[in-house]
Amino acid sequence: MFTGKTKNLAVIGNPIEHSLSPAMQNAAIEKAALDYAYIALRVEESDLNEAVAGFKALNFCGFNVTIPHKTAIIEFLDEITEDALIIGAVNTVKNDGGKLIGYNTDYIGFIEGLKSKKFCAENKNAILLGAGGAARAVIWGLIKEKIKSVNIGVRNPQKAKSLVAEFEKYTDIKCFEFADKEFEDKLSKADLIVNTTPLGMYPKIDEMPPLNFEKLSDKVLIYDIIYSPEKTKLLIEAEKHGHDIVNGEIMLAGQGAAALKLWTGTEPDIAHMQSVLRSSLSKG
Ligand code: NAP
Repeated sequence: MFTGKTKNLAVIGNPIEHSLSPAMQNAAIEKAALDYAYIALRVEESDLNEAVAGFKALNFCGFNVTIPHKTAIIEFLDEITEDALIIGAVNTVKNDGGKLIGYNTDYIGFIEGLKSKKFCAENKNAILLGAGGAARAVIWGLIKEKIKSVNIGVRNPQKAKSLVAEFEKYTDIKCFEFADKEFEDKLSKADLIVNTTPLGMYPKIDEMPPLNFEKLSDKVLIYDIIYSPEKTKLLIEAEKHGHDIVNGEIMLAGQGAAALKLWTGTEPDIAHMQSVLRSSLSKG
């Protein structure tokens, strides 16, 4: 039951109606017997500054930030962590005694997916497919885990140039057009493939990013950060070729769990959050 002592949390975005975060976070809050409530709020881009001030005035403990506000919110916060600054996006805000601090927990969620497969990224070679917003958190997660190299396949290498320039001080990172011969050669040395494109995401479930399976060793882990459908065409093909696979559910649950831990200091049950996500997704 909510009382005057209940602490408030939220997620902001636009649109927000289909957000899975309230179901996932309230389930974790209930499981841990915490006195918190988590709601979804639609915020227009033009109202972002006022919304942030509102959270302060209402003394919310914190909130999550989703599309389209993850980058735009940075200028309205009091402090940004180094991880969020490097990734260039904030997905979690914590109210620290009236000071709003912006964090990024997407990269932590991504690492949870690697951990779930007991994949140690240290000194390994990763291939990324796609170089958009989510790729930045994935790359930072890989760098934090001491990856040896990151080679990115894209349809337009010119567009990905600035991303590569930003991260090359941290790791050996390069970008290629999907059909580039040099990219094909990199596939044979890969330990991990991560799809960060939306290809295969519901409802376009018959699509998949280009990937020459013949070049891959069968030990390569294939990680698709898409969470709907549960198994994308890429993951179905990967299994047919004998690869171990992981989907984006654990990344989504993991970023939420890391946020909840930041706000409450309690370690949430990620497996429970993941199962609530799965059942919410299957209800549509
Ligand atoms: P984004 O910023 O739009 O980036 C998408 C990337 O995919 C870009 O590099 C884009 O290339 C490329 N791409 C798009 N359509 C393509 C096509 N037809 N052929 C080749 N490349 C294509 O999107 P995002 O925010 O990074 O999200 C990407 C995916 O990650 C979505 O499916 C999203 O649901 C998922 N995601 C999952 C989680 C999680 O927690 N599991 C978190 C965040 C995102 P161009 O630049 O050339 O368009």
